[in-house]
Amino acid sequence: MSVDVIETLKAKAAMPGRVWLQGVAPVSYADLLAETGRMANALAGLGLVKGDRLLLQVEKREAVLSLYLACLRAGVVFLPVNPGYTVPETAHFLTDAEPALALVESSRVAAIGEKGVRAMALDDFLGMAGSAPAEFADPVPSPGDLAAILYTSGTTGRSKGVMLSRLNLASNAGTLVEFWRFTESDVLLHVLPVFHTHGLFVATNCVLYAGASMIFQRAFSPDAVLDALPAASVMMGVPTFYTRLLADPRLTPAVCDHIRLFVSGSAPLSPATHAEWRDRTGQAILERYGMTETNMITSNPYDGDRRAGTVGMPLPGVEVRVTGPAGVVPVGEAGEIEVRGPNVFGGYWRMPEQTAKEFREGGWFVTGDLGAFDAEGYLSILGRAKDLVITGGLNVYPAEVEAALDDLAGVAASAVIGVPHPDFGEAVVACVVPVADDMLDAEGVRVALRERLAAFKIPKRVLVLADLPRNAMGKVQKAELRKVHAKLFSTG
Ligand code: AMP
Repeated sequence: MSVDVIETLKAKAAMPGRVWLQGVAPVSYADLLAETGRMANALAGLGLVKGDRLLLQVEKREAVLSLYLACLRAGVVFLPVNPGYTVPETAHFLTDAEPALALVESSRVAAIGEKGVRAMALDDFLGMAGSAPAEFADPVPSPGDLAAILYTSGTTGRSKGVMLSRLNLASNAGTLVEFWRFTESDVLLHVLPVFHTHGLFVATNCVLYAGASMIFQRAFSPDAVLDALPAASVMMGVPTFYTRLLADPRLTPAVCDHIRLFVSGSAPLSPATHAEWRDRTGQAILERYGMTETNMITSNPYDGDRRAGTVGMPLPGVEVRVTGPAGVVPVGEAGEIEVRGPNVFGGYWRMPEQTAKEFREGGWFVTGDLGAFDAEGYLSILGRAKDLVITGGLNVYPAEVEAALDDLAGVAASAVIGVPHPDFGEAVVACVVPVADDMLDAEGVRVALRERLAAFKIPKRVLVLADLPRNAMGKVQKAELRKVHAKLFSTG
């Protein structure tokens, strides 16, 4: 049985002395409950009722977490948006979700208001909430109630609103807390963005369900992380956090001594980074796999072998299958990853047809990721289905070529894409970033790959780039790379 997020919050607040946020002025769970009560009253005072959407677009700060919980208390649907989006980019969320209120930075109030949405500076709202009563009579929720809408990053086409229920959040939180062995003595170093499922739900709900505490940093900075690691016991990050920390000579086993768990997800962690981290710190990063629509799906084991290049096994209560045109494929074969369980979202906001397309009979959600199980049950992600390269009729899984590239000395990062080609339909193209100050010879890379990969997988071209385009979660924007290099083989 999943315990609701707010029921959990109330239980923790009733236990004396529990600290939610560490710092010079620590925030206890009782403080948090009172703050969410004041915010919930302020939302009600502004006329928001159950089912209304609250759009929040602000820089990372502690109040975002309290507002998420306050919305759950009031039954208001929490809709966080990346503060990096411009006003024109934000317009889509305003017209699509029709929020009853948008809380934004004061500099944005006028521009958002001009789009026809009631907008207010977050600071003004916090001022108003500050004088509201802490007691709030929570309406009785049901597990299926809509808790949040998170928009997909939408590299192609229209960004879709992912509808997450209270049960989706609660079931995943309960599972992760147990699976990753969270206890009340844990201290999580929070360095992820809070508009995305990883920092907002995975990190925050694990802390809440354990009654643990966190060190909340408003941005990721290697300096601040290295300072805080000795006081923390868990850190969750995206792969780029780990590579940036590896570039700092202050990363030593001693600095990580107090950490019991490093988690990575949201983008592939290269086996090379996994190995380097183990060499440098003595710790094996635990890689897990999930997406906005499904919350967390698989995880490497806590006790067993954390296998680099894999995302582990399905979490308890979550079913995963890999399918091809003829159904479930045999172990070892690649196919589309499908997921079913209480963690899977209810559909895309106001897009019933799109939703129907992405579910198969029996409630299986088609993730759009390609993968394969090995004989021991570990799942490997082979890339997004839309990133699969079909060259001369043969399938090339970008992840496999990227792993081979990342293994080469002198390669810091890589991304493999398919580019239109007059003979092959698509040609494999590798974009590689050299290790700082290291010269990479494109032809040398191709030659080195010949020892590792079949000829059809060898990139026809290797482009040495200063950087790869990435989104806020460190995910490489392959659509962008394909666009920029679309004419590489055009004869016109
Ligand atoms: P998002 O909805 O923004 O969290 O993106 C979800 C997508 O990120 C998944 O469908 C995967 O393509 C990718 N992803 C998440 N975790 C991993 C991982 N550990 N390895 C590879 N890809 C991942």
